[in-house]
Amino acid sequence: MSLRLEQVTKRFGNVTAVDHLTLSIPEGEMFGFLGANGAGKTTTFRMILGLLEPTSGAVQWNDEAITYAKSHLIGYLPEERGLYPKLKVREQLIYLGRLRGLDKQTIIQEMEKWLDRFKVPEYAEKRVEELSKGNQQKIQFIAAVLHQPKLLILDEPFSGLDPVNVELLKEAVLDLKNNGTTIVFSSHRMEHVEELCEYLCIMHRGKPVVHGALREIKRSFGKKNIIIHAD
Ligand code: ATP
Repeated sequence: MSLRLEQVTKRFGNVTAVDHLTLSIPEGEMFGFLGANGAGKTTTFRMILGLLEPTSGAVQWNDEAITYAKSHLIGYLPEERGLYPKLKVREQLIYLGRLRGLDKQTIIQEMEKWLDRFKVPEYAEKRVEELSKGNQQKIQFIAAVLHQPKLLILDEPFSGLDPVNVELLKEAVLDLKNNGTTIVFSSHRMEHVEELCEYLCIMHRGKPVVHGALREIKRSFGKKNIIIHAD
């Protein structure tokens, strides 16, 4: 089982957001997309999710297109965070979990597991608007993994988090990976990708500048040369 992008291109008018991107992401691996603003990371994710149609090329998962029927196997933390501010965290997660077809008991169990793990069990009864942006991000992460997806797509999951929360989230993501989840995430920062991923793609203006196994890339290019436009 693997995720494969074959010559995927996306144009918006004159802008080529993603330009002939070909790569494979093996099952159970963590894959990092690194690149500056506008490099094409979010557009790539939206095509993987089936939210955007490629202008040309194909996205395949286990040799088939990702259809609506498969979308429940995917979890997504979008770059734009969006929760209902007036809902309590518990209500918010029940609402989002039900959209995924989960029953209330399963949602509550998963929510409690994750809130404990993030050391904030009391957040269940807080309204979303009472939480900091970083904490809202953790809630949105929980929403993305409630249904235990096979493929998890995280758009800039560490941005806006303080170092303690970055560590908590990294540990959580690594555990999911060790349990077999395929994870794709984007970052502006080489250190996150380097620490978590065996495979990466560095994008620049829609093009994959370099991609493959981190170990091989380091061997070929040397570490310094592959840090491009990192914040
Ligand atoms: P960021 O880190 O800022 O999210 P990114 O690497 O995710 O950057 P994208 O959001 O994929 O980059 O954007 C790639 C390019 O495509 C940019 O030039 C952007 O302005 C353009 N673009 C993205 N979505 C659209 C759209 N819906 N319509 C027009 N242009 C778009």
